[in-house]
Amino acid sequence: MRKIKASELIGPVKQALQEINFDTPAETMESLRRAWKTEVSEAGRGVLEDIVKNREIAAKKRLAMCQDTGMAVIFVELGQEVHIEGPIEEALNEAVRQAYEEGYLRKSVVADPLFDRKNTRDNTPAIVHFRLVPGEQLKLIVAAKGAGSENMSTVKMLTPAAGVAGLKRAVVEFVEQAGPNPCPPIVVGLGIGGDLELAALLAKRALMRKMGQRNPDPRYAKLEEELLEAINRTGVGPQGLGGINTAMDVRIEYFPTHIAELPLAINIDCHLHRHKEIVI
Ligand code: SF4
Repeated sequence: MRKIKASELIGPVKQALQEINFDTPAETMESLRRAWKTEVSEAGRGVLEDIVKNREIAAKKRLAMCQDTGMAVIFVELGQEVHIEGPIEEALNEAVRQAYEEGYLRKSVVADPLFDRKNTRDNTPAIVHFRLVPGEQLKLIVAAKGAGSENMSTVKMLTPAAGVAGLKRAVVEFVEQAGPNPCPPIVVGLGIGGDLELAALLAKRALMRKMGQRNPDPRYAKLEEELLEAINRTGVGPQGLGGINTAMDVRIEYFPTHIAELPLAINIDCHLHRHKEIVI
């Protein structure tokens, strides 16, 4: 059995959290540049130019690309042949603490969601999702999720009668209503099937894929492309100022469901689209 000390995770997770706030992966930059080039609305083009330049400055000066540096969300895929020595969640939270403090990233987490809403002052705790998988590998996907786009997310318990047409309508109407709030051009993660909580998790997991990476099932891949086109026809545009680039990508994850259910979760990500995979 492979042994990994929990403390070994602190350095790589801390580095990933800072990198996703400063650097833009090549494929996201390419999507933003493509949007800038193809945008038909003048105001939209102006926004995209600012977004691209902001990314370049953030990377060069090691500054956060947005004042909202997000709540840390970490997906842990733990191989069954790996033994983690020490408390893993403590180590992940220590990584968040160090990353946000040393990287001058805004601390955006409140300890109690309803009553006193006092800032925890170190951006902890992270939201951690664990999954056991076969093998000897430990994979982590580290994300920083801003509130503007997270607030524009939902779970809808559709009935099977809604079908493909009803599901498409629900997604497009929801994105259109969200308008400028999630900071378009957005990435739309959809979780279809499972039950209420799994659909939400699938939608978040879909956001962790690479730009343009289609679902391996050709029916869902086609639906991703059709939805992307339909969303871009709404005219919301970059930052809601009108145009043809409302979304950069749509991704679907699905799971079997009950005969009487058709859960649909819509998790929107803003144009920052901050996440990174680490394999240990
Ligand atoms: S939604 Fe994204 S771009 Fe908009 S303020 Fe939040 S983190 Fe920044």
